[in-house]
Amino acid sequence: MKNLLYINGKWTGEDLAKVSVTNPATGDVVSEVPKGGKKEALLAVEAAHDAFEPWAETTAYDRAKLLRKYFDLIVHHEQELGELMTKEMGKPLAEAKGEVHYAANYIEWYAEQAKRIYGETIPTHDNDKRLQVWKKPIGVVAAITPWNFPAAMLTRKMGPALAAGCTIVIKPSGETPLTALKLVDLAEQAGFPKGVINIVTGSSSEIGEVFLTDERVRKVTFTGSTEVGKLLMKQGADTVKKLSLELGGHAPIIVFDDADIDKAVDGVIASKFRNAGQTCVCGNRVYVQSGIYDDFIEKFAHKVKDLEVGNGMDAGVDIGPLINNAAIDKVDSHVQNAVKLGATVVAGGSQPVEKGNYYLPTVIKDAKADMLIMQEETFGPVAPVQKFETMEEAITLANDTPYGLAAYVFTESVSKGTKVIEKLDFGIVGWNDGAPSAVQAPFGGLKESGLGREGGHQGIEDFLETQYVSIGI
Ligand code: NAP
Repeated sequence: MKNLLYINGKWTGEDLAKVSVTNPATGDVVSEVPKGGKKEALLAVEAAHDAFEPWAETTAYDRAKLLRKYFDLIVHHEQELGELMTKEMGKPLAEAKGEVHYAANYIEWYAEQAKRIYGETIPTHDNDKRLQVWKKPIGVVAAITPWNFPAAMLTRKMGPALAAGCTIVIKPSGETPLTALKLVDLAEQAGFPKGVINIVTGSSSEIGEVFLTDERVRKVTFTGSTEVGKLLMKQGADTVKKLSLELGGHAPIIVFDDADIDKAVDGVIASKFRNAGQTCVCGNRVYVQSGIYDDFIEKFAHKVKDLEVGNGMDAGVDIGPLINNAAIDKVDSHVQNAVKLGATVVAGGSQPVEKGNYYLPTVIKDAKADMLIMQEETFGPVAPVQKFETMEEAITLANDTPYGLAAYVFTESVSKGTKVIEKLDFGIVGWNDGAPSAVQAPFGGLKESGLGREGGHQGIEDFLETQYVSIGI
């Protein structure tokens, strides 16, 4: 594998300064990648622009065949990709391999969806005219991806973009470029024509500025923090850049008295502690109804204490390291603030003694709305639990946030679940389900959690233009 930039079908950038990629479990340097900037971003955009027309003219069947070959190659390299991911960002190997599988599925699903991009015929008001809607690929797409799901957040964009007939320029996170570079290496092996897929590592501000201001880039698809998403919106205003934004979350989990407690405990653990809590859809605040509050806390804390913390490459590890020191500081500040304002730690609550960016899986009881942890995305393995009395109170607490990505509800009552979910301002809801994401379903948030949807048949729309054609006959 070549840890270089890939522009116009060539691995390049040997002469550029290098940026180190470190293993958050050990602090060791895993590899180095070139520090690309404005010049390299412009070259990549030019290559994607030149490649667009011939690529858009291929048939959906040809694009589907290539995507299917790409899917097979990703699946074949699951172990290698998984190990690379664990080394550069820390998640346990089993989770990393699970993500590779999930990532590959986006490519397979959109290989199939390429053949289902339908236009429309509209009934005419005039017999001398025929009215049609044509669908066209939007053009050059620039994709910016985060470190927490280095494979899936990329293929969720590559799959629909390539299926639609768009060419793509990728900027992966500086923390995790290696998984993305390997995925591009496999795309080259699959045989995508030169210029159709390009990747530039390096300065996010320089590369981002080119993506958002160059007129040849017709769409920017971004997954990352709300803060950077807002910056990109401002930068893209002058070229009226089409944007898809998958941003931060602050997911509430509501557990009602009539929930199956064991199912709810397992669901909250699946939602909260996957990827050490560094997941945009992970539950960040748990609201439990008073009738089962004490029981729930006891069972929940007991199971959380059993979660194994350690290097993701070691067998049996449930919680790997956090991405860096800043993440540890943020998590600890949320815990300290909650304790200061009256909450009690019932599991974890500190770093373990081993070296590395680890934080013990933590449960805090008697959390309150004024605590930082109930207001901000924590992005770490801490579950604050707050007691509530009524359904109305739970809905108000859950919606009291600028975010609207995911929410979770645990109740065995169909009527209560339906009533509550209808009132929740969130793009994704897991009902008795701590892991609702699926490639065939729309993923995305309301409010400051983003714009547009990825996944499912909705996910390809953002890469298509709608052209209305009125034909005089
Ligand atoms: P981030 O700091 O916003 O970074 C995301 C990407 O943006 C990285 O590639 C980063 O590059 C790049 N970037 C940073 N500053 C930029 C700039 N000025 N111009 C252009 N690009 C820039 O987010 P993160 O820490 O990687 O990811 C965590 C966040 O992503 C969380 O808030 C999480 O909730 C959110 N997320 C959302 C979803 C979703 O689907 N809604 C999924 C996963 C994660 P560098 O790293 O190289 O600076």
